[in-house]
Amino acid sequence: MAFKFDVVIVGSGLAGLRAAIEMADQGKVALISKVYPTRSHSGAAQGGVAAALGNEEEDSWEWHMYDTVKGGDYLTDQDVAEILAQDAPRAVYELEHMGVPFNRTARGKIAQRAFGGHTSHFGKHSVKRACYASDHTGRVILDTLYAQAVQQGVKVFPEFQMLDLVLENKKLAGLVAYELATGAVHFFQSRVVLLATGGFGKIFKTTSNCFANTGDGVYFAYRRGVPLEDMEFVQFHPTGIYGLGVLISEAARGEGGILKNSTGERFMAKYAPTIKDLAPRDMVARAILEEIKQGRGINGKDYVHLDLTHLGADVLADKLNEITSFAKIYLGVDAAKQPIPVHPTCHYMMGGIPVNVDGQVLDKNHQVIPGLFAAGECSCLSVHGANRLGCNSLLDLVIFGRRSGMQIKRDMAELPWNDPGAGPGKAMEAKIQELKDRRKGEKAGELRQELQTTMMRHCASFRNAEELSQALSTIESLQERYRQVTIDNKSPRFNSDLLEALELECLLSLSEAVVVSAKAREESRGAHYREDFPDRDDDNFLQHTLVQMTQQGPRVFYKPVTITRFEPKPRTY
Ligand SMILES: Cc1cc2nc3c(=O)[nH]c(=O)nc-3n(C[C@H](O)[C@H](O)[C@H](O)COP(=O)(O)OP(=O)(O)OC[C@H]3O[C@@H](n4cnc5c(N)ncnc54)[C@H](O)[C@@H]3O)c2cc1C
Repeated sequence: MAFKFDVVIVGSGLAGLRAAIEMADQGKVALISKVYPTRSHSGAAQGGVAAALGNEEEDSWEWHMYDTVKGGDYLTDQDVAEILAQDAPRAVYELEHMGVPFNRTARGKIAQRAFGGHTSHFGKHSVKRACYASDHTGRVILDTLYAQAVQQGVKVFPEFQMLDLVLENKKLAGLVAYELATGAVHFFQSRVVLLATGGFGKIFKTTSNCFANTGDGVYFAYRRGVPLEDMEFVQFHPTGIYGLGVLISEAARGEGGILKNSTGERFMAKYAPTIKDLAPRDMVARAILEEIKQGRGINGKDYVHLDLTHLGADVLADKLNEITSFAKIYLGVDAAKQPIPVHPTCHYMMGGIPVNVDGQVLDKNHQVIPGLFAAGECSCLSVHGANRLGCNSLLDLVIFGRRSGMQIKRDMAELPWNDPGAGPGKAMEAKIQELKDRRKGEKAGELRQELQTTMMRHCASFRNAEELSQALSTIESLQERYRQVTIDNKSPRFNSDLLEALELECLLSLSEAVVVSAKAREESRGAHYREDFPDRDDDNFLQHTLVQMTQQGPRVFYKPVTITRFEPKPRTY
């Protein structure tokens, strides 16, 4: 079947929903999501959304901007960080007015708590900047925005999975999607496509991300010639539940939780004397791994303890309820009485589809591709630089989701309808049929596991040229084997076997882009740490990586970083 909408938004996380609300009154707007909309990963965000409201202690947007730039190890584009920090209070009050039930101070203002890397007076002390609703902040914002979008008439297509972007020579015609309930392939013709498909943490074995985070939008843009930016910058969150990777929010340390090694030492005091456990994530994750490497993991194993026992049962119940229950459910640990075993877990992708501050996607010459937009974790602004600060993602989603919506409204009248005929839908039907018909070959699940283990082993928090080369050759052989992948389930209804096989194509290609970008960056900056190049090298690498798919394989090139107010300095906390 063919549909026709002025705008199709792919993804119903906070980025897609905030954009949808902005333009719901303009033309026909469709929103498609492969998971049921309110199950998007945004709903798993626990800790909060950052804004210098100053409700608990003195704060300013300049300090927030500075923290964002320094947190990103000076790879952050500073004009974008300025918008983020300056617009944050407005964005949070807007959420409040839409109905988000934030926690309150005793005087009735929005309550705030401390988070990693957020400081006052340009790095002097930790500051309470994260606005939160207990430890289910993302959940309440997602529910609120979804209700608003539906109320305003956005046409929602739940459990429709995009399988391709129809974009040829910078001419956008729409997209191809698969309806999970029926197995039907549909062509959505549109003048605008906004990609808001989230991150791709699923390229790693241990991750806090949900199953849907396979980077589809990023891959389809890449395959259609859009270069990808800063793909080597992958954030590992320090506190994943040991053995599982399920997240224990930084809010736990924001409320006073402490990391300890096997000797009971508060080891972060060595690595970041000023803000200790609230140092940025790249530093805390590496410190944990260093302690483990030095033999100070708990009982000689590869984890450390997150101690919340001194916070008291009331604080845990009131402000950290969900993560307390996670510790109980997954580990049988009562966080009020025992420390929680933790290990770093892949959490967030700083890189993605390059966009300007209005969400317009940029081609290899940094020119706008008419009609193609991206927002949220799938995009790269680059406002998070080489390492994102906690609570800056939810903020990025609502600020730049809204700005994309505003730009789409401005562009709409000028954008053409392109008509590719029945070709794209037919080609996808043929591809699916071929996959179903294939008799001999390996299962997608086996190849995926091998990929995730390889990425974990050779391209996680510590990297070097030799390991990255190994990763690359394994990925190349997996890509070869993928050509013969087979599936058991041939049915048209809710065929996850088929969809996982298709998603594996995204995971393989994005992993390759990450490894190639990481190999080319011969320095250490933010989340990208090279054992063979342990220092930051501003002379050669104070620039953004771009990687483009070509016939000969991925090609790497660079573009400058925008520096306005803060000259790069050594990064200590
Ligand atoms: C456990 C966890 C806790 C976090 N906590 C915080 C926090 O406290 N504060 C903070 O600032 N950040 C936090 N983050 C980061 C933040 O939540 C994410 O970066 C953010 O939610 C991403 O939002 P998004 O709108 O870009 O996409 P998502 O919310 O990830 O949604 C992606 C959407 O795209 C859809 N989609 C994907 N592929 C397709 C396809 N092929 N076809 C159709 N639809 C598709 C999905 O169905 C989904 O609707 C957390 C992340 C995790 C994993």
